[in-house]
Amino acid sequence: MDTPLVLLDVDGVLNPLQRSPGYQRYRASPNGVVYRLLLNPAHGPLLTGLAADMGAEIVWATYWTDAANDWIGPRVGLPQLRHVPIPPHDPEFSLGAWKARHVAAWVGARPFVWLEDEPDVPEVLAEDSGLGPYLIVPVDPLHGLTETHVAQARTWLEQLTGDHG
Ligand SMILES: [Mg+2]
Repeated sequence: MDTPLVLLDVDGVLNPLQRSPGYQRYRASPNGVVYRLLLNPAHGPLLTGLAADMGAEIVWATYWTDAANDWIGPRVGLPQLRHVPIPPHDPEFSLGAWKARHVAAWVGARPFVWLEDEPDVPEVLAEDSGLGPYLIVPVDPLHGLTETHVAQARTWLEQLTGDHG
């Protein structure tokens, strides 16, 4: 079986809207635009632990694309990761729909679990019959990624590899 992917969003997932304990403030300025970030250094170990245990690969699925490796990964404890190439948002589509189209095209039939806060991603993926098995773990952008989300991903990956193992 193909290596399962853990698709990882940044804004609303690693970078929530509201500050909870464990988060630190940062600034990032990709393309010269300054963004304020809330990032949690516990996220990296949580995710790399999941990937190592499950034989999965973490891949950025974010409008930050490869800039996430410069501005986000080092601050949360993630290594350099591949990224889904997502072109700049076309306002004819919602943020989630535009991203989901490009994620679907890139993943092909590989199994994936996707940690994402955009609500209309499931609808777009459901229309794509070429996808393999997948799970979307919806994240509340107010609070971002929690251990519960990672546990959901783990359970699904365990079932996936168990089915094929
Ligand atoms: Mg997001």
